[in-house]
Amino acid sequence: MAFDITADEQELVDAVVSISKDVLVPQAAAADANERVSDETLKTLAEVGVMGLNLPEEFGGPGVGSVAMSQMVASVTEACASTASIVTAQFLATDSILLGGTEAQREAWLPRAAAGEVIGSFGLTEPGAGSNPAEMSTKATRVDGGWHIKGTKCFITNAGFADFIVVYAKTDVDAGHKGISAFIVDTAAASAGLDFNPPEKTMGLRGSPVYEFVIDTIVPEDALLGVEGEGFTTAMRVLDRGRIEVAAMSLGIGKAALDAAVDWAGERKISGKPLNRLQGIAFKLADMYTKYRSAWLLTMDAAEQRDAEVDFTRSSATAKLAASEAAAFIADEALQIHGGYGFTRDFPLERYVRDARIYRIYEGSSEIQRTIIARSLSK
Ligand SMILES: Cc1cc2nc3c(=O)[nH]c(=O)nc-3n(C[C@H](O)[C@H](O)[C@H](O)COP(=O)(O)OP(=O)(O)OC[C@H]3O[C@@H](n4cnc5c(N)ncnc54)[C@H](O)[C@@H]3O)c2cc1C
Repeated sequence: MAFDITADEQELVDAVVSISKDVLVPQAAAADANERVSDETLKTLAEVGVMGLNLPEEFGGPGVGSVAMSQMVASVTEACASTASIVTAQFLATDSILLGGTEAQREAWLPRAAAGEVIGSFGLTEPGAGSNPAEMSTKATRVDGGWHIKGTKCFITNAGFADFIVVYAKTDVDAGHKGISAFIVDTAAASAGLDFNPPEKTMGLRGSPVYEFVIDTIVPEDALLGVEGEGFTTAMRVLDRGRIEVAAMSLGIGKAALDAAVDWAGERKISGKPLNRLQGIAFKLADMYTKYRSAWLLTMDAAEQRDAEVDFTRSSATAKLAASEAAAFIADEALQIHGGYGFTRDFPLERYVRDARIYRIYEGSSEIQRTIIARSLSK
């Protein structure tokens, strides 16, 4: 449990920390207000390799381990959570291809995604199937020369501007989760069969739009991701990895909020004394730090297990549960410590509270993480 990273990884972490401070922090409030992180910002991140952080060198990524990657995801989020959500949705899409795709599919999509030339999206959730995606009703039926995909997906990050969407669909409705397959839908080629609603009006992560869309299109034979019937397994493996990234994003907001609270409590005076001299406030800071540090250790532990290539399903669920709950607690307490100022949009605290709320919901809610952890204990 050393959480060591290599010198090369440290160099990249330092570059990402520096870009986060210099490029992401100054645009974060505007991305939230304008409900869109700019293409320019994503291009800058792509130039240092952030859009493909999850990918090995053979597919254009930096080939970093999960411990280093978690530190970089946390750093991006500390600066701008909306940007981090776009980036990690890209990871869900490219992890799907990396883990479930054929060699030809990996070569066709991953190097371009790593370079930021194409943006990906992960299409699992449906109006009638969120926490239990096995209940999805999108279907893919074999037709001459390909597959006819028909259904509705919702809350899909990046979908409306993505170059490709990994769409999960049932190819055998009688086979339960074993009848689910995945498809790489090239959005330019399938544009006539994709109908996007305007982005959802979300509470937080407003710079990272999420879309509902109806798909009714025929895709070529080679759009089937890897092997028919393997889609659910691929999605679960992708989410095991993704949950470490959600934990890392939670750390990012946790750190931003904790640092802001510590600074404010040192500067703001009540009856001539700084806030941090009041035991009621000092105890809050201590609890915030303790939750942050516990979450950090659990996240790095899960990342280290992933790097060690051992089963990390329970540890990624534990990290996501602890870190997402910690982020919400820390952001809320940090706003409280700022008093009325925290409630204004002149300070980022209200944004941290709004942005952190999603981490307890997406990629499996806290209730689902508890279910995964409890089930693993009873095995
Ligand atoms: C901003 C945002 C971005 C998203 N991005 C994506 C994306 O890119 N791709 C994608 O596929 N999806 C995405 N999602 C969807 C997200 O993963 C789902 O919203 C989430 O999985 C929950 O599903 P649901 O909303 O249908 O809630 P439901 O499944 O209806 O759950 C409702 C409530 O019931 C609880 N519950 C459900 N089952 C159980 C159980 N067994 N035991 C106890 N409690 C339970 C849940 O925890 C929750 O509190 C996104 C959602 C949002 C809001």
